[in-house]
Amino acid sequence: MNINAKTVPLGVVGWPVSHSISPELHNRLIDALGLNYFYSAYPVQPGAMPQALDGMRALGIRGLNVTVPHKEDAFRLCDRLDAYAAGIGAVNAVVNDNGRLWGYNTDAPGFIACLRREGVSVAGKRAALLGAGGAARAVAVGLLQNGAAELRIINRTRERAERLASELCARFPGRVRAASNADGAELLVNATSVGMKSSETPFSNYGCLSGDCVVCDIVYCPRETVFLKGARKAGLRTVGGIGMLIYQAALAFELFTGIAPDKETVEELFRRMEMKRSIALTGFMGCGKSAVGRELAQMCAAEFIDCDDYIVKKAGMSIPEIFEKVGEEGFRDLESRSIAELSEKSGAVIALGGGAVLRRENIDSLRKGCRVVRIKTDVGKVLRNTAGDRSRPLLRDKTPEQVAELMAAREPYYQNCDLTVDATHTLPRETAAAIIDKIAEMY
Ligand code: NAP
Repeated sequence: MNINAKTVPLGVVGWPVSHSISPELHNRLIDALGLNYFYSAYPVQPGAMPQALDGMRALGIRGLNVTVPHKEDAFRLCDRLDAYAAGIGAVNAVVNDNGRLWGYNTDAPGFIACLRREGVSVAGKRAALLGAGGAARAVAVGLLQNGAAELRIINRTRERAERLASELCARFPGRVRAASNADGAELLVNATSVGMKSSETPFSNYGCLSGDCVVCDIVYCPRETVFLKGARKAGLRTVGGIGMLIYQAALAFELFTGIAPDKETVEELFRRMEMKRSIALTGFMGCGKSAVGRELAQMCAAEFIDCDDYIVKKAGMSIPEIFEKVGEEGFRDLESRSIAELSEKSGAVIALGGGAVLRRENIDSLRKGCRVVRIKTDVGKVLRNTAGDRSRPLLRDKTPEQVAELMAAREPYYQNCDLTVDATHTLPRETAAAIIDKIAEMY
């Protein structure tokens, strides 16, 4: 990316916004299409949207995505609205047209575009929607605008479902109502926040659905939620939330730049983001697995799990305490059991402990569901990364020569990994990007 005086600024506003995947998606599109734009994330405090939008006008920022909690404020503050934004009551993309701000909502068409990619048509379908929050409202409008024959809105707080249904009824009479079950539905969409980073599901009665029902989740982290896994096991077709995320971004990108990313470019984004299999990072202690893992998880909008943290939580004590109580062998048993559990996860980034490779069974069980990536580095970086860290019993009071010996002894254990990335001279973010590139090449 070559930033110069003509580079056009784009970005996303939200609070918080540091976890946003939008800069990743948009900058990849900018790179792929060779455009002179730059996309950044701007933390804007609740209530500060009037100033943020004035700043957009003053600085000539061409386009802003809008995320929680500003979508409704943006709806009120834009000069003009597109039909989706007007119908949904929320704006997730603002285009600055010489000081006049146009508000759009690309969540609804993004959801529909994602279904289309999967060959799923909405027209004439009996649909059921779980949730009545902001995203559910966008999905509901998308479904009704695209010809769903009926829409049942099912929500934990029934009054909220009734309010949304009666609002939509005015525009789509006779097709939408609040309900308490999804019996016979041909399309079931989860638009609640349940399933995000948890093993809960908002629904499990798959037997009541039509036999050819398509089950969609707009939650994209993890890639396969418990809700989708249950549907798949019940023999139903499933669609995950990453597609909606990619298409709403691609549509906003077109609004900002006037260029629609071609099919191949969007498919390349899918290859990079549609991480159904988890990625497990292995490598010697201090090679940077956790730092790289966090970057990687953010870049892929995936859940990050540190295996040592998982073990500590499971055991209810710190790693030095576990070593003291049950010895290294006892710790490795606990680690193997934890790894077997984590290998069931989909679409997560898992940073393994440095010694996890010592047992072949760990890597074997991980490789069933994950790509196992070895991060390689040299003794110098290991020593720098672990200086002053007292939580690693095996490195305590070791000389550089002893560490080098330990590293050399571990070398044969990494042969079973799917791929190796050298992190000796790269920052965690650069190493994470190299992993994404290598994995994308494996598709
Ligand atoms: P929101 O406005 O806060 O609404 C949350 C919804 O989830 C409400 O219907 C709420 O029910 C329900 N809910 C929360 N906890 C629940 C529980 N324990 N049991 C049952 N229902 C529960 O959130 P939102 O903005 O609509 O976002 C919802 C989800 O959509 C998030 O996970 C978000 O990441 C995802 N999303 C994905 C995309 C994408 O591109 N794939 C785009 C937008 C949003 P009550 O009314 O009873 O509280």
